[in-house]
Amino acid sequence: MADYLISGGTGYVPEDGLTAQQLFSIGDGLTYNDFLILPGFIDFISDEVDLTSALTRKITLKTPIISSPMDTVTESSMAIAMAKFEQGFITDPVVMSPRHTVGDVFEAKVRHGFSGIPVTETGKMGSKLVGIVTSRDIDFLSEKDHDRPLEEAMTKREDLVVAPAGVTLKEANDILQRSKKGKLPIVNDSDELVAIIARTDLKKNRDYPLASKDSRKQLLCGAAIGTREEDKCRLDLLMQAGVDVVVLDSSQGNSVYQINMINYIKQKYPELQVVGGNVVTAAQAKNLIDAGVDALRVGMGCGSICITQEVMACGRPQGTSVYKVAEYARRFGVPVIADGGIQTVGHVVKALALGASTVMMGSLLAATTEAPGEYFFSDGVRLKKYRGMGSLDAMEKNSSSQKRYFSEGDKVKVAQGVSGSVQDKGSIHKFAPYLIAGIQHGCQDIGAKSLCILRSMMYSGELKFEKRTMSAQVEGGVHGLHSYEKRLY
Ligand code: IMP
Repeated sequence: MADYLISGGTGYVPEDGLTAQQLFSIGDGLTYNDFLILPGFIDFISDEVDLTSALTRKITLKTPIISSPMDTVTESSMAIAMAKFEQGFITDPVVMSPRHTVGDVFEAKVRHGFSGIPVTETGKMGSKLVGIVTSRDIDFLSEKDHDRPLEEAMTKREDLVVAPAGVTLKEANDILQRSKKGKLPIVNDSDELVAIIARTDLKKNRDYPLASKDSRKQLLCGAAIGTREEDKCRLDLLMQAGVDVVVLDSSQGNSVYQINMINYIKQKYPELQVVGGNVVTAAQAKNLIDAGVDALRVGMGCGSICITQEVMACGRPQGTSVYKVAEYARRFGVPVIADGGIQTVGHVVKALALGASTVMMGSLLAATTEAPGEYFFSDGVRLKKYRGMGSLDAMEKNSSSQKRYFSEGDKVKVAQGVSGSVQDKGSIHKFAPYLIAGIQHGCQDIGAKSLCILRSMMYSGELKFEKRTMSAQVEGGVHGLHSYEKRLY
């Protein structure tokens, strides 16, 4: 690009830095640590940076971060926390019948942490609503009341405020607010229960405006599946459970198995969004895009627990993988998920600046309160286990991880990951806001008010990069101190 003039100022500013295209045409594979982004011009506050980004062709997220499908990272608590704990209509709540007892309610409260339970004739959804039991109904009851049927303890149907099926979430919210009740049952013309909404969720709605929801205001959820026959059954069950997107979980996704599975899903569930991968080259991406994927997961061998590059001799430094695949896939409107190798919030910004639409993280989210597993202490440090899905440890305990890393006929298992531990990070509810604010600050320094702008600055060549020598990397870290404490948020 030619030198340019800063309006009315002191004249031409010489060209500086490299465009992404120049940076990656050098030929070396680059990791996130091998380059920096040159700062731009700030004329907005960081809070204003819009992080809306595409997860797939049809699904957009308000924040570009996703947790890895790994058994030490994502189970339901993590999935709910990442989607920000917000619900609208609850269509599969715990329901009881008038024959259930006060003791059953106490038990449900311990198990699920709430006590506003609708009561229907049969104890199931779709049956006539006869009442609701809330804390107020049972708070003053004691052990000796535990055998009493709910019929005697519940608030009866005639005293309930309900809303008719077909009500919009906004109208239902208004009724709930006016009624000052904790739960609002939604009933059809025959007075049968079809959904409920909860006051606590209304508050979360207000507190978590960034929550990712589908058109029914339910949290968005994705799940990983393999490419074998039995995965078709898992797929059916996931569809019944309301999954929004499936990820075909493979360390090398450019295979006939994955292409067949994409064809199968697209024929059976044309509306379901399918993420293919993993890939690290445009040639790999081409086959999956031709087969009809809605997004690509990018990364091979860059994960913190990964020994794929060591063992399989295949892989690619992640900065190059993300740039090369995203640059190709964007021509077809297919978003890219940068998966693995994210060690800091700066790496997230770099991944997004190289064209990724979202970023998937394992180790960075491991050892949070919401990650599966118990904390343990080692040398006085509070830790949780974190392991690769291709580690022998994971494969011995979890048959689905074997499928990601092994072919059916494999007689000898060759591990592609290690098992380790990560230090306690506290709750996702504190950590995710830190990540989000960090990404916004990064974009602000670059001068990009949204992730869309960031990407278009990169592709137009306006965004400038620079390679980092080893000594530049040392300079960019903390150095020269006798000791220091690194607190991030
Ligand atoms: P991290 O965020 O750097 O910890 O990397 C997480 C990513 O590593 C996951 O999303 C997977 O793509 C990948 N991964 C998970 N388990 C293994 C493994 O055992 N070997 C290689 N890569 C793995």
